Amino acid sequence: MKKIQMVDLQSQYQKIKEEVNTSIEQVLNTSAYINGPLVHEFQADLEKYLSVKHVIPCANGTDALQIAMMGLGLEQGDEVITADFTFAATVEVIGLLKLTPVLVDVDVETFNIDIEALKRSITPKTKAIVPVHLFGQVANMEAVLEIAKRHNLFVIEDNAQAIGANYTFKDGTIKKAGTIGNVGTTSFFPSKNLGCYGDGGAIFTNDDDLAHIIRGIVNHGMYKRYYHDVVGVNSRLDAIQAGVLKTKLPLLDAYCDARRAAADFYSNAFADNKNIITPKTADSTTHVFHQYTLQITNGKRDELHKHLLDQGIPNAIYYPVALHSQKAYADTRYNESDFPVTNELIKTVISLPMHTELDEEQLTFITKTILEFVN
Ligand SMILES: *Cc1c(COP(=O)(O)O)cnc(C)c1O
Repeated sequence: MKKIQMVDLQSQYQKIKEEVNTSIEQVLNTSAYINGPLVHEFQADLEKYLSVKHVIPCANGTDALQIAMMGLGLEQGDEVITADFTFAATVEVIGLLKLTPVLVDVDVETFNIDIEALKRSITPKTKAIVPVHLFGQVANMEAVLEIAKRHNLFVIEDNAQAIGANYTFKDGTIKKAGTIGNVGTTSFFPSKNLGCYGDGGAIFTNDDDLAHIIRGIVNHGMYKRYYHDVVGVNSRLDAIQAGVLKTKLPLLDAYCDARRAAADFYSNAFADNKNIITPKTADSTTHVFHQYTLQITNGKRDELHKHLLDQGIPNAIYYPVALHSQKAYADTRYNESDFPVTNELIKTVISLPMHTELDEEQLTFITKTILEFVN
């Protein structure tokens, strides 16, 4: 059996080696390292794929979030609501900009922002909501948009984990994850569903004015060369990474299908086990399984984690600590009783190997090993 990996980037690369190497050589042969033609080509390709008016590439997904918030003109003291159960980057940039993060609990089935908790957290200072499309399925955007409209709030989608997922509104309209709110952000970190071979990120919006503002912010606040109208940052997608991404973008849907096939295999195998809760997908969204995350309900999650490592099966706890319990983000406004779901999930979740190259032999070994241990 081929060695099992959490994410098998090497096997994936071997299948696209020639095209990727050609695109990298193109950059080397033209020396257009920064903002070269490949960056613009990838940007246009991604705009088309997402059916969004503007894609603004940048250096990574954390920058993308920060720049989106800067572009919306959020100011010190503005409250920004996001999920308690996510990667720290989401809340980190809120803090970095001296905005006030307000963490809320998540839904027990989808792990995405809980709509009732979100409603309860709105104050006169609330200015924006950041739904995170965690593990690859889109948050309840219909409800988020409704709340945002009622309270005049911006919606910033953290789409680092769900690029390629579709969201269907009640009226049948279908939109790509990240193109639903005022602005969406993503990461091209190597292990993400559309990953490059280094760091990369992007911001999406259909708002022409916001796109213009953001294009200046990523480039030192310049709208005319050497005239700095606002405080900006330096955040670019480099041309070599754009070449890798341009090669991989046409494969994204097939990559999502491969992840879904692995997820289906897992879910079928675990369907009848009383100690395992398999991930649920909400009706309104497709799931692109950035992570495949089980809940182990018999209290043996940590033992299973170690046992699987011993058996050569990589696995991970995403996330072992709730953000509201992190030293950097503690706030006296929170009570433990505000976060019953997150507090449970940090004790029960375990993410299994998930990537585009898992084969049946590996999946069989993984599921068999887990079932033997958990039963
Ligand atoms: C990966 C990730 C980010 C940050 O992306 P980087 O490119 O690593 O900066 C932000 N939010 C979420 C939910 C992520 O998973």
